[in-house]
Amino acid sequence: MSSPFTIPGLEHIQPPAGQPSEPAPARAPSRRGPTREQLLEGLNEPQAEAVVHAGAPLLVVAGAGSGKTRVLTRRIAWLVAERGAHPGSILAITFTNKAAAEMKERVEELVGKRARLMWVSTFHSACVRILRKEVDKLGFKSSFSIYDSADSKRLMGLVLKELELDPKKYQPNAVLNWISDRKNELVDAEDAAKDTKNAFEAAYAAAYKTYQRRLREANAMDFDDLIMTTVHLLMAFPEVRETYRRRFRHVLVDEYQDTNHAQYALIHQLCAEHPEDAGSERVAPAELMVVGDADQSIYAFRGANIRNILDFEKDFADATSILLEQNYRSTQTILATANAVIGNNASRKPKRLWTDAGDGDRIVGWVADDEHAEARFVSDEIDRLVDAGARAGDVAVFYRTNAQSRVFEEIFMRTGQPYKVVGGVRFYERKEVRDALAYLRVLVNPADEISLRRVLNTPKRGIGDRAEACVNFLAEQERVTFFEALTMADRAPGIATRSAKAIKGFVDIIVELQQMVEAGERPDVILETVLDRSGYLAELEVSDDPQDGTRVENLAELVAVAREFSEDPVAGPSADPTDVEAGTVTPGLTDFLERVALVADSDQIPDNPDGEDVGVVTLMTLHTAKGLEFPIVFLTGLEDGVFPHQRSLGDPTELEEERRLAYVGITRAREKLYVSRAVVRSAWGAPSHNPASRFIDELPIDLVDWKRTADAAPRWSRSDPDANSFSRMGAPTDAGRRNFTSAAMRMDASSKAKSAREVPSLAPGDRVVHDSFGMGTVVALEGVGDKSVASVDFGSQGVKRLLLRYAPVEKL
Ligand code: ATP
Ligand code: MG
Repeated sequence: MSSPFTIPGLEHIQPPAGQPSEPAPARAPSRRGPTREQLLEGLNEPQAEAVVHAGAPLLVVAGAGSGKTRVLTRRIAWLVAERGAHPGSILAITFTNKAAAEMKERVEELVGKRARLMWVSTFHSACVRILRKEVDKLGFKSSFSIYDSADSKRLMGLVLKELELDPKKYQPNAVLNWISDRKNELVDAEDAAKDTKNAFEAAYAAAYKTYQRRLREANAMDFDDLIMTTVHLLMAFPEVRETYRRRFRHVLVDEYQDTNHAQYALIHQLCAEHPEDAGSERVAPAELMVVGDADQSIYAFRGANIRNILDFEKDFADATSILLEQNYRSTQTILATANAVIGNNASRKPKRLWTDAGDGDRIVGWVADDEHAEARFVSDEIDRLVDAGARAGDVAVFYRTNAQSRVFEEIFMRTGQPYKVVGGVRFYERKEVRDALAYLRVLVNPADEISLRRVLNTPKRGIGDRAEACVNFLAEQERVTFFEALTMADRAPGIATRSAKAIKGFVDIIVELQQMVEAGERPDVILETVLDRSGYLAELEVSDDPQDGTRVENLAELVAVAREFSEDPVAGPSADPTDVEAGTVTPGLTDFLERVALVADSDQIPDNPDGEDVGVVTLMTLHTAKGLEFPIVFLTGLEDGVFPHQRSLGDPTELEEERRLAYVGITRAREKLYVSRAVVRSAWGAPSHNPASRFIDELPIDLVDWKRTADAAPRWSRSDPDANSFSRMGAPTDAGRRNFTSAAMRMDASSKAKSAREVPSLAPGDRVVHDSFGMGTVVALEGVGDKSVASVDFGSQGVKRLLLRYAPVEKL
């Protein structure tokens, strides 16, 4: 079979399994490159061993900061320089921009532009690239849309309506989580239906099936589909699998502890022996190297399975392991602290991780009265450090959830400290950006019903819900797509003439714009024309809502992103490895949409260059911090119920995951670590009083210098039991009053919640208040007595399922 990936000069390199794929120094003598010594410079013995290892699958397991990512990067250079591997035969899965950039840079130094043939990407991007080429075999068009969680939620809303499932009982998010769990386990809709335990699950399975049907009709996939579909494709089409097995002779995976089953299966398809392939023209498995640290597994909620790393040697025949034990990142103090905390996890293999970096400074602890005071402490301390010569770019502030960034932003804005928040409400999640992208998606994929419905009456053009329903009816009746039905809307039963006319106007615009796409017009030009012809920009410009001004600016930013992409499709923060030479990536609209669909939080991490530039302070959640390092780290919000997260408090398994998250946070620091907490924190409008995080108790006492303790805090907000009685009798003054009384109320609520107590009797529609989620409305109830579970809608916090016996909720 001829494959688009056949690389000249590579076909003959098909050695038997378990053998080095290329003779050792196969470097072309004419090329001047680094010597072996240079390639191995700055590596310790086991690191070098991992770099030069050839043949059998290799697992590098090691604690944080021991050079796993460095080894992976060096190995790529080694493969190209010393073993003559073609860059196009390398697939590297990595999550940090820095590592990806370094890999590309090093290989480019060695082989020039050919370096771009190497695939360095996340699992999702790699799968999209495979699917764009192959997915027609499964009946999708290669221009398929990628639905993010908001799109999926809208679609699920339609699905639940179609199935007449009560949205009070079946929350779109809950159903989607259930489906996501199945997809991560590679369980498709049919198999999911076979394995349901009760009527509830049967309904979920039915929703799964309909959801998949509608995705397919819309020529769309959600994030989890990208991986699952690729695996199914490789399993169902041995010749496709062979194409990629032939192409990727070297597969390298960073952060292997966070792979889920579907990702594991993908690696397995590409790299394991497949007995069923025997007899045919067999391709030897690729050389596989995975690196990871079981103590840093923090994505169980997305199906990550720690077993993948623990079972590596069972899963891949002849596998070997290399252990790295020296940490090069942190001081002895920081490392000892991290080791002490993670040591409290029962289910782990002990590790010996050491450093010769010296003790360094003690960890600084700070107890603030409330979250504003905590932010002020961080800000003041940064000022002090900068005065003493540190660069703002050396500093990172970590927190457990995105919402916690706000107070830091406020103070940095006030003090004029440049900063960057990574994650949070992202640019690509803003309404106007989503609207604009929905237009673009419709142009390349008119079957994309969710995007189409999104823009049909945006801006308002007189196409109401009723008209939309009439068209929908026509689509069902005629068994055509929603877009096709729009093109003949005048035939829709019951449609008003005015609506039909408005729809015709809309269809005309879309068709006209589609012609631009077909003519190969640049994405930025198309986008500008969309904003103009649709009337979108005009509507914003005449508005006097100040928010609309910001929206115009955001759209201008999006046009700038499109322009940058049009001019250089391989540049940019989330630049995918691209087959520029092979001409498979063009600066076309589909590629642009793919790029923006896969923008990850980590893509926004500012480059803090050396030299004159002092850089900016980086704010991010602990999850985003994985794999990164900073000279100075502030670990904030160390309160039970915040970090560890409320949800994990009663569940030992989840608590261990939170502890791994703490380990990740601590081990990001190279020189200085700060830990802080607030005695009172406003959660959703109401102050809540959280005890110190249990992780604080796990820090070695002699390594932490508490510059301010709870005793320094005003008495009314101290975490001692007296505070309660004091608050009842005391007469707080002025501004303190409101905080004070509700804090006391909440303390009552949480102390009640902790002891076994009566289950509150609730009914759908009741208003409740929860210690950390704030006010909410009960939407559904299941179970009785001690087992009763309420689904409560907490507004921006989403819908939570709460076991009422323990949950700190009170009926209002
Ligand atoms: P994590 O588990 O956090 O992902 P890691 O094991 O991937 O960490 P790296 O990020 O590769 O570790 O390395 C940590 C730091 O130590 C980096 O700054 C790296 O450059 C440095 N480093 C790694 N190995 C060595 C070495 N042999 N000599 C000097 N510095 C090293
Ligand atoms: Mg790493």
